[in-house]
Amino acid sequence: MRDDNCIFCKIANGEIPSRTLYEDEEFRVIMDLGPATRGHALILPKEHYANLFEIPADTAARAMQVAKKVGTQIVEKLGANGLNVVQNNGECAGQTVPHFHIHLIPRYQDDGQHILWKPGKLSDEEMDAIRDQILADQES
Ligand code: AMP
Ligand code: ZN
Repeated sequence: MRDDNCIFCKIANGEIPSRTLYEDEEFRVIMDLGPATRGHALILPKEHYANLFEIPADTAARAMQVAKKVGTQIVEKLGANGLNVVQNNGECAGQTVPHFHIHLIPRYQDDGQHILWKPGKLSDEEMDAIRDQILADQES
């Protein structure tokens, strides 16, 4: 299914032009228009899924295969020193376009970006309680 009001549906399906780095039946990989670093790209499925919770598991798995292939190509061709693979779900997690996408962000020494989180610290009791909450009532 595609969503007529979704800009990433239009880009992924070629209705809006983009700088395409890779395309197959299911995905298009484009250059991000607001790049965090040189070579920042987005993997877009051609079908509309709002987020990780909606995308079928096998499609998500194939998206990760595309991440490996195109991410490696970007790093090698641009001489990057590393790569962040980022996938945001929900506004509070930084998602601004509600069409599933994976960011490929090549990293360079001293590129001035800060994509990692600030480490926290919880007590053993709090860690145990969180684990128990996640695992509660789980079918095994
Ligand atoms: P997120 O914040 O994870 O939803 O990421 C959305 C990303 O899409 C941002 O990095 C934007 O710079 C990028 N973006 C938004 N509109 C376009 C567009 N028309 N073409 C390419 N990238 C876009
Ligand atoms: Zn869409």
